[in-house]
Amino acid sequence: MRIIIMGPQGAGKGTQAAKLEEETGATHIETGDLVREEINQGTELGEKIQEYNERGELVPDEIIIDMTKPYLDENDSWILDGFPRNKEQAQALDEMLDEIGEDLDRVVVLEAPDDVLVERLSGRRQSEATGEVYHIEHDPPPEEGSEEDPGPFVQREDDTEEAIRNRLETYHEQTEPLKDYYEEKGILVTIDATQDIDEVTENVLQAVGEKDS
Ligand code: ADP
Ligand code: ADP
Repeated sequence: MRIIIMGPQGAGKGTQAAKLEEETGATHIETGDLVREEINQGTELGEKIQEYNERGELVPDEIIIDMTKPYLDENDSWILDGFPRNKEQAQALDEMLDEIGEDLDRVVVLEAPDDVLVERLSGRRQSEATGEVYHIEHDPPPEEGSEEDPGPFVQREDDTEEAIRNRLETYHEQTEPLKDYYEEKGILVTIDATQDIDEVTENVLQAVGEKDS
């Protein structure tokens, strides 16, 4: 299985990709995580890309393509989350797939209006220990002090209102037009991401052929 999960920040890509990984065994490759790991490790490359990340701007194509490629080569089955984000990256992905003689199966797009997205990102919390993503209202973590308590939780540094708006603008300008690109290839499926998490998961599983409709 080779699929892309696409959609604006806060639509639920990470949440759904994690469920899909669990259900299918395909590897969840999240380029935002690769970027944050590189920065946290304090490498030369990490220092170079830190400013883009803090401003909520895209890291240059050449860098992100070089960072992503090894993960695509290593895994036969993957769910790509956060890549491609513009035409250049989509073309680079096509070239990589041509090289290994494989095709993309599906591009699943999660759709929700900006006001819903801003509310979701403001309430997003991540467990430091497990990396699991929660929402203070819609998907609260197990209770503090309970046996499964995955706390403490952190908020991402770029989940500030200004960086969120910047990232959404870039999505609408550069990433959203890729819907046409994949529609023309006949592999695009669009899903209403304003539904409950479990309902969205049902739709995603149907879209990738893991469940009958
Ligand atoms: P977002 O919520 O903005 O989609 P991500 O966690 O996916 O956040 O990515 C965090 C940051 O990593 C982005 O703001 C950008 O700086 C960088 N990044 C991730 N994926 C890409 C990509 N495909 N192209 C360029 N930059 C990327
Ligand atoms: P993305 O990877 O697309 O940026 P996330 O999966 O990180 O989005 O989800 C953003 C926030 O919204 C998280 O706090 C998550 O718990 C919450 N969330 C995800 N899907 C839904 C949903 N269908 N309904 C309500 N909240 C959701």
